[in-house]
This record gives sequence, C-alpha cells and structure tokens, in this order.
Amino acid sequence: MTKQSSKIRTRFAPSPTGAPHVGNIRTALFVWLFARHNKGNFILRVEDTDQSRAEQGSIKSILEALNWLGLDIDEGIFKQGQEKGEHGPYTQSNRLKTYRDHAKKLVQAGHAFYCFCSQERLAVISELQKQEKKPPKYDGQCLNLKPEDVKKWLAEKRSAVIRMKVPQEGETSFKDTIKGNITVQNSTINYQVLLKSDGFPTYHLASVVDDYLMEISHVLRADEWIASTPKHVLLYQYFGWEPPEFIHLPIILGQDKSKLSKRHGAISILDYKKQGYLADAVVNFLALLGWNPKTNQEILSRDELIEQFDVSKINKNSPVFELQKLDWMNKQYIKEMSADKIRKALHDIDGLSDEALVFFNKQYRFDKALNLIKDRLEKLSDFEDSVRFLWDMPDYKADILVGKGLDKKQTKQNLEKALELIDRSDDLRQIFLDHCDKSNIKRGDMLWPLRVAITGMEHSPEVFASIEIIGKDESRERVEKAIEKVSFKMAQRPGLEKIQEKVLW
Ligand code: GLU
Repeated sequence: MTKQSSKIRTRFAPSPTGAPHVGNIRTALFVWLFARHNKGNFILRVEDTDQSRAEQGSIKSILEALNWLGLDIDEGIFKQGQEKGEHGPYTQSNRLKTYRDHAKKLVQAGHAFYCFCSQERLAVISELQKQEKKPPKYDGQCLNLKPEDVKKWLAEKRSAVIRMKVPQEGETSFKDTIKGNITVQNSTINYQVLLKSDGFPTYHLASVVDDYLMEISHVLRADEWIASTPKHVLLYQYFGWEPPEFIHLPIILGQDKSKLSKRHGAISILDYKKQGYLADAVVNFLALLGWNPKTNQEILSRDELIEQFDVSKINKNSPVFELQKLDWMNKQYIKEMSADKIRKALHDIDGLSDEALVFFNKQYRFDKALNLIKDRLEKLSDFEDSVRFLWDMPDYKADILVGKGLDKKQTKQNLEKALELIDRSDDLRQIFLDHCDKSNIKRGDMLWPLRVAITGMEHSPEVFASIEIIGKDESRERVEKAIEKVSFKMAQRPGLEKIQEKVLW
C-alpha cells in the first residue's frame, strides 16, 4: 500500500451545480474546522465532471460564500480562475488526462473493463430490473469480451465506457469515524462506470484519484455519499493505495423531518448575507448542525469552535434546521456589536435606503435609533423598517391611538396634555410620570396614545427616546395630527365609516 503523508489535509469538493446552500456550506465549515483544529490544510477542489449539470457563476458564489464566512483556503481554487498549491490543477475538467491514464491502468491490471453496451440496451435492463423490483445493476454483458474484439472496436471508435470490476463474492468493509465499521456484500456493488464515453471521468474515479494525488488524509462529506464509499474502497485496493479516513456528516432535515429544502427556509447562503444575517452567527449556527461541544454553550466564537471542534462529537443523528434558532443567534450577535460595526455591516449589505442615509447623516441619530431597537433586532435587514417612522411617519388608523381601557374622549384629553408637557424642557419621561402620579392617571393610559402618535404603530420602540431623535417640533406636529384623528373619529356618527367605505368603493 502506498502511504500518504502524515499531515492532515482535508478538502471541500463542491460540484458547480447551483447556489451554495446550507448543506454544502455546512460541509465546507466542518471540513475547514477540522483542518484548523488539527493545524492541517483546507483545500478547495472543483468537481465539474458532470458538465451537463454545471451552472455558470456557481463557483463564483461558492467562493463568495466561503469568503464571507471567513473560511480561508490554503490550497486549490481560492479566487475565480486562480489556484495555489502543488497538486493542481484543482478543477477536475482540467485533469482529464490523469483520469484517463488511471482508468486505463485499471483495465490493464484487470480491475476494469471496456463496456460497449448501447444506452438502449441499458435502458431495457434497467426497466426489467424495475419490474422485478431488483436494485439497478449492470448485468456484466461486456465483462468477458475477447481482447481482440475490444481492440478492434476501439480502433473502429465505437462508443465505450470503462467500468470497474467488482468481485461477486465476499464483502467490502471500511471504517467511518462517526458510524463505525460498515460492511457491504460485494454482490450489491454495481459495476460502476469510471470513464464515460465522452472521455470525462465519473465522480467516483475522479474523487478517488484526486484524493490520493492531492494527499487528502481525511474525507469529510455529506452522508449521501456513504453508499458510494465501498466502490471507492475497492478502487483504492485496485490502485494499491491506502484510503483516507472517512467522516460522513449526518444529513440535515427540515422541521417536518424531511430532507432540508427551500420550503424550510434554507436558501442560498448568500441570501442570508443579503438578508442581514451576520457571518459569525451563520458560522455558529451551521457548526451546531450535527455537532456540539457537549456542553450547554450555544454561542461559540470562531476561535472557540476551532479549539473545540472534535469530530468524535459529531452526532450520528440528523440535525434539524430551525430558522428561528438562526434568528435568535443572530440577535445575540447583533446585541454584542458596536454601533460602528453595525453601521458598516448595514453599508455592506446595502441595508439603508437613500432617505435613511439622509436622515442618519447625523451620526448621533443613527446611534440613538439603533439603541431604540438593538436588543430586539434579529436581522440587520429589519433595521430600516423598524426605525423608518423616525423620518417617514406611517399612516395609521385612529383606533389604535385608543389604549386599552380608554375611550376616545380620554385619549384626546391625554394627548392634549401630552402636547403641553412635550414643550417643557428637562427630563420628559420624569415630567410625564410625575403628571400621571399627581393626576392619578395610569401610566399606560398616558403613554400608549403618545407612543402611537409619535410612531404610528401599535408595537414600536420606547417613546421618549424616539421623541429625542425626531425632535420636539416634529413630535408636537405628530401629536397634533393624532388629536385631529381622534377628534374626527369622535365627530363621526356611528356607522358613518362603513357608509363612507361603501361610497368609496
Ligand atoms: N462533488 C461532491 C458534491 O458536491 C462532493 C463529494 C465528496 O466530497 O466526495 O457533493
């Protein structure tokens, strides 16, 4: 057996078939954490051998996602069209000769064979197997072709693939770090195509050859590949190479326990960026999808994750993706950020409209507005909506001015009193509270209508801090408008509103 070097070398090997989703990037993160924890190398290889599924722009967005999350690459593709390292090229479509040479070596050694079966024939076999409820498997028709025939047909340029041979007796075993020993009967393993008729390798051949040539010591990948691993183990045996360690990561499920998809809120990682989630929160959240430090700690910094990331703590069971948890986590991270950092992060995601930028050109306004909502803010992208009332008063219904247990008349009176109190200098909150105590008015009865008058919303931030930001003149105008609204409401005959609605329609 040819031995690999003892350095820990891991790889993330995406196929460029679309936007980088939660599952892909969770794999990338685990691979990266494993490399960093063990002071090894993190390699990025592009597996683009299935050209029919390749999608333009896919690598660019994968790189952007890794870069956003701070998963730095030691070797391989690290920028669009650029690579570093001694084991390149790192894009499989640029390594076709290597795969062909290796496939041919296997044929020469008697571990693989040319197959000339037509697509039509294969379709018929597969249909029959379906009807007989047998697992799909090549029937071995070309296993024992005469060498002269093979030579002749190849010279005639007949379409052919190379398939691996598989012993029909015995079993193949390997150890998965998480799941333990896994053994399968060889008779269940298909005569896998290794090299397609267009000269491209299949994933199986390419990944085994590359993992070996790139001196990968640990293969961390999604659980869906575990069924392919016995084939890979056979290939390692055929080549006389020692296989890497296999670590298959549990599949991520949605809350209904089905395979995670868009409808569970799992979108492209870059959409989370656009929506104002923070990279650190996303890293923390993804790290806990299938792994945990076996303590109650849920908020872990990047350094803590690296230090504690031990693959023996990866769960066998599938983790469940909960968007609410990401929201919660993001909120915790936002709470810890300085106003300057948040301002910069908002800038990075284009999270402020032109009107907002004009309003916040006075820095104190931004800092104060942030303070109004910081503890409740789940996503940066919610920031502007939560504070827009500061410069753009929403239109609201007079009804919401009337607090619980109040009537319109009392509401109007309290607002009129508020208008008078707002003009006083000093600590407005204290002035209002003193007034409530002195006049025996419930604080809520005084403050509810005022808050709605100032913010235009039933659920809104603290009123005195809001008044401080928008200033007394604007606040007075808003309260005057509110008084007008309740007065108009009071003047209406009961039922008039309904009649008006009818007329309008
Ligand atoms: N190209 C495969 C994928 O995108 C990677 C499989 C592997 O890591 O071996 O899922």
